[in-house]
Amino acid sequence: MDASTISSALGRSRRDFLRSAAGLTLGSTLIGGSPFLHGQGIAKKRKVIVITFGGGARDQETFAPEGQENIPNMLSELAPQSSFYTHMMNQGILGHYVATASLATGVYETLNNFSAVPPDHPTVFEYFRKDLHRPSSNTWVVAPSNGFNRIGQSDCRSYGPGLGATVILPKHLLSAASSGVPADFDHLLRDNYETPLYTPALASPAGGSEFELQQLEMILKLSVDDFMAHARTVSSPDELSMFIAKRLMQQEAPSLLWITMHDIDVAHAGAYSLYVDAIRRTDRLCAELWKTVQSEPEYANNTTLFILPDFGRDADEDAGGNGFQHHRTGDAASRTTWMMALGAGVRQGVVYDRPVQSIDLVPTLGAIMGFSPALSQGKPISDFL
Ligand SMILES: [Zn+2]
Repeated sequence: MDASTISSALGRSRRDFLRSAAGLTLGSTLIGGSPFLHGQGIAKKRKVIVITFGGGARDQETFAPEGQENIPNMLSELAPQSSFYTHMMNQGILGHYVATASLATGVYETLNNFSAVPPDHPTVFEYFRKDLHRPSSNTWVVAPSNGFNRIGQSDCRSYGPGLGATVILPKHLLSAASSGVPADFDHLLRDNYETPLYTPALASPAGGSEFELQQLEMILKLSVDDFMAHARTVSSPDELSMFIAKRLMQQEAPSLLWITMHDIDVAHAGAYSLYVDAIRRTDRLCAELWKTVQSEPEYANNTTLFILPDFGRDADEDAGGNGFQHHRTGDAASRTTWMMALGAGVRQGVVYDRPVQSIDLVPTLGAIMGFSPALSQGKPISDFL
């Protein structure tokens, strides 16, 4: 089988699984076929939250009969409320920073995955702020690792400086808050599972950790003591990120919030049980975030949530890889992922297996929020609209 046949087969088996295990309806049988309900399109109060996870998970550990026990929340609670795309292709570079940057610009970026450089093309945050005249407090990124600290804003001259999102790095906050006793938090400060050769320093930025401590106190309204006390109760970097994201929702109520998780990528270390634990944790954290949406007055009933992995992982069959551990081969399994959208304006319980691309996310967000991603190379998922 060639790659596109394998990829279509993956999309179809996810589709069939979702229909039988979560009761989703087939989108192509619906009149109109649009997951986004008409008339609710561009509401001023509309909020969008995007959760991406770095280190996709394979179907056999998630959306397949043998994987379903790892994703009880996504399967029984979120998917039935969602419009679910089972065949999203990533045709770019399969490194987490460059792939997440591509998701955020709607262009397959070619930047060096291991350097802290901004994306070449305008980000969704810049389109959103420029076209809709939104202040910087209206969009935030919560990102997992050092490498992501430039993702909020491109180098593009007509956008760029002053129009991006502030990137908040929970690990930096923790490292600033715990200066002197970081040993207690090794498990939360672990950064980048991809290659042992790349070990970014979590050193304090120039001027000490003042910036981070200000973010804690001024923005998140958290004292160092309270933050540290909370950090002692969480078990992973993604749990810490979700805590920060929820504080942001309460304190700043951004209309465009982007959360990137990374726990699943522990798979690179080769321990299958840690990889599966991370999938279960991610499943739980996504559901918790959705509960927070319902309980926060600023978000309840006017929020659309998108959940998608940045890409997949290698198939067991591919001789060039090592199964779940990496995403090196560029095979169909590592490129064929999925996306679910749920909440305001989204049709519930529908599954679509038409191929879409990772770079279609930004134009789709533009269509529902009312901005024009002029330089994006994707297109709005048309049967969304
Ligand atoms: Zn990875």
